[in-house]
Amino acid sequence: MGVSPFQVAIEAVTRPLEFAARDDFAHLDRVVDLEASVVAAAERALTLAIPSDARDILLRVVKRFVAGGEAGVGPTEIRGALANLRPLAQPGWSEGALERPTSALPGVGARRAESLARRGVRCISDLLFQLPNRYDDRRRLARIADLEVGRRTTFTGRVVLSGFVARRRQRGRAGRAFEAVVEDSTGMVRLKWFHGTESIAATVQKDAWLLITGDVKRYRFDKELVHPEIEPLTGDEASGAVVSQRLSQIVPDYSSPEGLHPRALRRLIERAVEQYADLVAGHVPEGVARKHGLPTPAEALGALHRPGPDADIEALRSGSSPARTRLVLEELYLLELGLALRRASRRREPAAAIEPGGPRVQAAQQGLPFDLTGAQLRAWKEIAADLARQDPMSRLLEGDVGCGKTVVAFLAAVAVAERSHQSAIMAPTELLAEQHARTLAHLAAEVGENAGLRMALLTASVPRAEADEIRRRLAVGEIDLVVGTHALVQAGVEFRSLALVVIDEQHRFGVRQRAALAAKTSGERTPHMLVMTATPIPRTLSLTLHGDLDLSIIDELPPGRSPTRTLLFREGEGRKVSELLREVVARGEQAYVVYPLVETSAHVDLRAATESAERIRAAFPDLSVDLVHGQMDRGAREAAMSRFFAGKTQVLVSTTVIEVGVDVPNATLMVIEHAERFGLAQLHQLRGRVGRGGVAGTCVCVARSVTEDSEARLQALLSTSDGFEIAEADLRIRGPGEFLGTRQSGHLPDLRIADLVRDVRTIALARTAAQATVRSDPRLARSPELARAVQARWGDRLALVGVG
Ligand code: ADP
Ligand code: MG
Repeated sequence: MGVSPFQVAIEAVTRPLEFAARDDFAHLDRVVDLEASVVAAAERALTLAIPSDARDILLRVVKRFVAGGEAGVGPTEIRGALANLRPLAQPGWSEGALERPTSALPGVGARRAESLARRGVRCISDLLFQLPNRYDDRRRLARIADLEVGRRTTFTGRVVLSGFVARRRQRGRAGRAFEAVVEDSTGMVRLKWFHGTESIAATVQKDAWLLITGDVKRYRFDKELVHPEIEPLTGDEASGAVVSQRLSQIVPDYSSPEGLHPRALRRLIERAVEQYADLVAGHVPEGVARKHGLPTPAEALGALHRPGPDADIEALRSGSSPARTRLVLEELYLLELGLALRRASRRREPAAAIEPGGPRVQAAQQGLPFDLTGAQLRAWKEIAADLARQDPMSRLLEGDVGCGKTVVAFLAAVAVAERSHQSAIMAPTELLAEQHARTLAHLAAEVGENAGLRMALLTASVPRAEADEIRRRLAVGEIDLVVGTHALVQAGVEFRSLALVVIDEQHRFGVRQRAALAAKTSGERTPHMLVMTATPIPRTLSLTLHGDLDLSIIDELPPGRSPTRTLLFREGEGRKVSELLREVVARGEQAYVVYPLVETSAHVDLRAATESAERIRAAFPDLSVDLVHGQMDRGAREAAMSRFFAGKTQVLVSTTVIEVGVDVPNATLMVIEHAERFGLAQLHQLRGRVGRGGVAGTCVCVARSVTEDSEARLQALLSTSDGFEIAEADLRIRGPGEFLGTRQSGHLPDLRIADLVRDVRTIALARTAAQATVRSDPRLARSPELARAVQARWGDRLALVGVG
């Protein structure tokens, strides 16, 4: 494990040498066939794809040992060989070689290195792991008569005529295009180039034979190819009189950065594979790779970049070849190992065991104004069991908007307080923290004295003196539950005995912040951690993002909720919105009108919301309308929120600050202006704000100018109300990078080749393998190389400590 073909081969060379050198060469004369075995091993090593410096060293050893054959090599030769070979045998040497800049390859100068760097390709290994995005099949060349419009095709043809043609002026510059017509026995087709024409003209001359690859397009009544890739052929190659290797290949095609011709990039990668592939070590356990019939990473690189004539082109094209699977598995295995290690190291920390069956918890549960749903009960049982353990809970509580997660967190906080410890709930925004504080206070009041929770709210907006007092009381244990924002992780907040940290809407928090909060406790003990998210993450993604968390899912809404009706209005249907507003208000219900707010156009967006509030006030003079936005101070915002909460205002116009968690059961209408500008998950969140009481809600999306993507999002929203389905759709529409990028900045592991959507099965495989590894070696103490690899790749990102 963790050894490259190169290292195996080098070791085969050094082993007999080390043997001969034992005890200061005391037994040298008893070593049989030393020269022959060293030479044979070195020659084997020379057949590998290795860099030229390693090659030179091996060649020198072979030369010396062959030359010394008759006289026999002595201690001097052996010492010299070992001095040269020992560094190569270190794993660090291979790693160093793979990290050489791309300019270490012949053919890469400063300009090319820069082009590559713009794509994030800096070193040899980056180059090796740039996988082709297409493959051209030259084994089956098309005939010109059979060229299909819209298909990338490879064929051969002889140039019938060629030359420069004048083009219309473009952006003030007159251009010359180069055109050619080529033919084979079945027909003719036109080729065109608009730039780089001088060098094309030199190759594309009358009667020259060409190998042509490109996308076939329709041009008036003809077919043509614009900027096809071409290679000159000899007449014999073209006629098939000689068997040309070039014409029996599968050729990979790379998306090349600007300033680098695809063919040039292909050559560079080919060179990198020829010289470095066998330095790449695999980490996935042998047994796993064998069981799934996967090649070594070195073989995989060869198979992907230089497929043989018998390769399965369909598998290559669909990304399902065993070669690609191996590389994806390698990448995901390290990631899952990192997650499993983090989890194992948390498991080793001591936590306060909270026995959750006390009378106060029972009273709290019985005092709730409703029965817990089955799903809530299940989640609470899972959490309670974790709390009772002496190692810290790490659990994700996932459930759709309004499914009742807060209640479950409340019970946990009561259990913790009952055992004289403290809890903290951390929300992503002040508004949400404020609302949580309100909801919890409300629950506590319902439950009555028995819950006995002493609570406080601590955010950046809390006045200094009040905040100081809260900090003092936290430090001496006079507060059982504190609700706040990231202000909670700032310096100066100490707990007497923090035993539970609840993180709401965890996608806003990075792993580091979680770690910072976990470190906030004064004793030796690590707090239990419960992460709540109302934005369901597709399970496939959960596996990688939360590989270190146990999962509880609340997949049931409290009874009596009627499904929310979703309507899509277009520009110009404002009248319908007004009518709905009027109806809702006439029934004594309330409405939200939400505007998007993006930082780059914050004041424009804010103005839109403000003007809208004015318009609604003007249109409905008898209604009270309020406006909330992120730039208001806390007092004003809270006042507006509580007016709405108390039913004193009928319409609340806001920017997206109400996005998550706001809970006003009497609100039944949600109008989302510029719905096309919201992400799908956000839309779903907003929709979840209504229909929380007994009355069915309506969600109106007003779309002004839709793109294909935004239309797809809106249609997905219309078609389902299931949060998980929404999340899957979102993921499909945007891809994992975007999907997480805007919402979970920094959470998506930066994977080089694996694709979290496409490689679901491999994720599962990687996860199982990683868990098995960590079970048998929880700190990777027995696999230092593996520990190093994980640490190098993910240590920083995952805040890994104590590995290896
Ligand atoms: P979430 O945080 O999951 O979005 P909340 O915990 O805020 O959901 O609960 C949403 C609303 O549903 C709250 O008004 C809450 O009081 C109510 N609720 C929670 N659980 C139940 C239940 N089992 N039965 C009835 N209402 C419930
Ligand atoms: Mg909530």
